[in-house]
Amino acid sequence: DLMPVRRALISVSDKTGLIDFARFLESRGVEILSTGGSAKAIRDAGIKVVEVADHTGFPEMLDGRVKTLHPKVHGGLLGIRGNAEHEAAMAEHGIAPIDLLVVNLYPFESTVAKGAGYDECVENIDIGGPAMIRAASKNHAAVAVVVDVEDYGVVKAELEANNGATTLALRKKLAATAYARTGAYDAAISQWFAKQLGDTFPRRVVVAGELKQSLRYGENPHQAAAFYVTGHQRPGVATAKQLQGKELSYNNLNDTDAAYELVAEFDKPAVAIIKHANPCGVAVGSDIVSAYKAALATDPVSAFGGIVAINRKLDGATAEEIAKLFTEVVIAPDADEAAVAAFAAKKNLRLLVTGGMPDPNEPGMTLRPVAGGYLFQTKDNGRVALQELKVVTKRAPSQQELEDLLFAFRVCKHVKSNAIIYVKNGTTVGIGAGQMSRVDSSRIAAWKSQEAATAAGLAQPGTIGSVVASDAFFPFADGLLAAAAAGATAVIQPGGSMRDAEVIAAADEKGLAMVFTGMRHFRH
Ligand code: 5GP
Repeated sequence: DLMPVRRALISVSDKTGLIDFARFLESRGVEILSTGGSAKAIRDAGIKVVEVADHTGFPEMLDGRVKTLHPKVHGGLLGIRGNAEHEAAMAEHGIAPIDLLVVNLYPFESTVAKGAGYDECVENIDIGGPAMIRAASKNHAAVAVVVDVEDYGVVKAELEANNGATTLALRKKLAATAYARTGAYDAAISQWFAKQLGDTFPRRVVVAGELKQSLRYGENPHQAAAFYVTGHQRPGVATAKQLQGKELSYNNLNDTDAAYELVAEFDKPAVAIIKHANPCGVAVGSDIVSAYKAALATDPVSAFGGIVAINRKLDGATAEEIAKLFTEVVIAPDADEAAVAAFAAKKNLRLLVTGGMPDPNEPGMTLRPVAGGYLFQTKDNGRVALQELKVVTKRAPSQQELEDLLFAFRVCKHVKSNAIIYVKNGTTVGIGAGQMSRVDSSRIAAWKSQEAATAAGLAQPGTIGSVVASDAFFPFADGLLAAAAAGATAVIQPGGSMRDAEVIAAADEKGLAMVFTGMRHFRH
């Protein structure tokens, strides 16, 4: 199963390591065929090379769309060695066998990732490259195919060890890698097209990802796990650089993602503290240190061992405050020297910097596995604006109430349903999450607010004089009455219940102001 390499075809976009490898092949007496840019680089290095166009007698054309799509190339890759008919046909048509194919593809994924326009992305769909890779891999009985610069070394080592030949075992391994490459490449292209379709869905989907990190375990220690990233560089856990701390776990990544998407909603300096993917405190403020203190005050008991997300560069003063409590992860777009110094003694705390904030308006998809399949949906990038709010009560909210209502509703979007959020002065003062009954969420939020007030020695809970948001409509007046009993003065909710009139009447009777958003933020 040893196959000597006498002729190689090299066509690479990423020219890393190219010259070294080509020089090695030349030294072994291998004839090198190559396409335009690759051939030029090889020739410029003083290495002997034959242009594919000269080999086929057919020029590169159509802006490079047709370079290697020729029977002399594909016949040379596909012809079965030792098969009399194939060999006769090849001889008749002057097709020379090609024993080694070295191709890396047009950089479609990184072109999309850098935000290139439609036409540039389309032009970066490689056609001849994948065709050759698939042909060579099919004929792995004779042909070796290299699609990653990282594999030049193993091929070199084999040729040296086997007097210029490759083993079947290596060719099979390279074929497996090669089909994974073309599969992932087409998946990335398909995903990009699907994204262009907006909220319509194609008949087939593929999900592409590249291993970023093997994880020690999943949600629980008996589950295996890994983190895969797509080519799309949304700032967040996928782009994060870890400046210090222990290895990130599956739960860390999941919670950190939730935390960062939440603070990305706000223009003002904002801080969110997350536990089990739900916030236990969120605040906006004039600076992040005051926002952090306010967010922490919502529920300091739950904040222990939490994840802190910040939408500004982390400074020393804020880092010192965070360091006072056991915190698992801190994520921010950036961190200054004083912040890094403040965490230096906290060896386990993981500090992540992402280089930017994700755009909450950006369209996208979410994917959830179900038995036997996946559910896809467009991402919840809905954001109600002030002018879209409809006042439904006799009393209209004050300016401060309006600001707090919008803030509360935006927090709702990131809290597991049923979500009830009490807010005062840009700070959550009570959060009820994940209950099966809305009125329970309302009661829990008020009760937790009371607990926090008692622990802090305050005379009354934060919910007195607060506003309240509900992620979906109140089906009955009871949830709203619970909020009124907790001391809320204004309410934001989607509206649309059969009993809206009842709920509005209850609000009027209690002197509450209420606005409808017309948009719901379920999160399950
Ligand atoms: P070069 O820099 O050598 O001019 O081009 C190398 C790139 O062209 C490689 O990424 C290779 O996959 C790609 N390529 C080779 N043949 C063809 C072809 O016939 N059509 C297209 N669209 N790309 C090709």
